Amino acid sequence: MELAIRGGTIITMDEKQPIIKNGGILIQDGRIVFVGNRSRLREYGSPDKQIDAMGKFVFPGFINAHAHMFQVLFRNVGVDLDLLDWLRQVVWPLTTNLTRKDVYAAARLGIVENIKSGVTCVVDNQYPRYYEEPLRAMDEIGFRGVLACGFHESGVPEYVRVESDIALNRCEILIRKYAQTSNGRLRVCPAPMHPCFTSEEALLKSKELADKYETYLHVHTAESERDVKILLSKTGKRDVEFLHDLGVLDNRFLAIHSVNVTQREINLLARSGSHIVHNPVSNMYLGSGVAPVPEYMRKKVNVALGTDGPASNCNQDIVETMKFAACLHKVHLMNPSVITAQEVLQMATINGAKALGMEDKLGSIGVGKYGDLVIFDMFKPNTVHVHDPVGSLVYSATSENVDTVIVDGNVLMENRRITFADEEAILKEADLVALRALQRAGL
Ligand SMILES: [Zn+2]
Repeated sequence: MELAIRGGTIITMDEKQPIIKNGGILIQDGRIVFVGNRSRLREYGSPDKQIDAMGKFVFPGFINAHAHMFQVLFRNVGVDLDLLDWLRQVVWPLTTNLTRKDVYAAARLGIVENIKSGVTCVVDNQYPRYYEEPLRAMDEIGFRGVLACGFHESGVPEYVRVESDIALNRCEILIRKYAQTSNGRLRVCPAPMHPCFTSEEALLKSKELADKYETYLHVHTAESERDVKILLSKTGKRDVEFLHDLGVLDNRFLAIHSVNVTQREINLLARSGSHIVHNPVSNMYLGSGVAPVPEYMRKKVNVALGTDGPASNCNQDIVETMKFAACLHKVHLMNPSVITAQEVLQMATINGAKALGMEDKLGSIGVGKYGDLVIFDMFKPNTVHVHDPVGSLVYSATSENVDTVIVDGNVLMENRRITFADEEAILKEADLVALRALQRAGL
């Protein structure tokens, strides 16, 4: 299968040729084989499919490095609560009342929502009973993603608690299954939830599993003051200190949030090569605090970007999240230069790829990389005329400017139309499922 993109301005995120005007891209069997001037596409003959991108802007597909897609079913339930109250009153009671069919319907809607804002790869954090449903939905659609197998082991209500051996066993089965069947498009990793809700033993076993299969260890780390305090009272240590002393921090560790950290903890994260996943909208919405992202960047810590769950964001719009990421740190430090549009776009693309150890395959547009692209139509009232494509993307565009989304060389959305299913049917199904789920939970 060959797909050619003709015309348009390509923002490659590759230092060698960052912006190509009147560009052309050729993808063969899921891999980019040519990036350059449009005129040179002729040398490759007639592709199976062509997309005319004249006047449009082509970016690498965005990587949403942290989400909980099942939460599309309970957006705005329990509004205006802090993290722990919101988990106890909303997320845990609702999540334990879902069926596998519900979670599958939620995942399909979650993927559509991600695609609509230009996401081509999502790290979806899920609870034990429903690990496989998002993977199944991603697989059928041809989406790219990582399933982070979450579990709570202690300090939570009995109905939420799952023994780590059960969760990790399920996780291992899926790691093996999808390594064999998804051609590298889908990955699976262990994800014990907050350190305060997990035993040392479970964290160590998770690390062992991650090492065995060279996959990630995904942990909500130092998310809010209250969860850090719970761990402090249990162990006398703050989140990052605790994880460091256990020996689980390394360059495959994904530290989700990392908001409430000391300078020493920032240094520990930097020295270990761990990756931060920054979720500014969720941190703001839950009043969790401001992650010291400019300081992480100064210490050369890799920072990727996530929306977090659609019930604590309250959507999965990565374009909106980019603007929040930039503006939050500018106002927090009262310095507009403290983070740039280019740095935020790096977070949503190449830094996300680095966090997944896939910077040779994802995160920029270059020969040999996967054909994961997003095409923006900036000929809209909010964006015309584009003087600076990256500034225009981060500060002026909205997800409504996302026109076409390609994953692995397959067009999943064209001219804002989802190609793989009836979008309205997916919305209707999730709408019904969400209503029933709330009724069942008695909320
Ligand atoms: Zn989360």
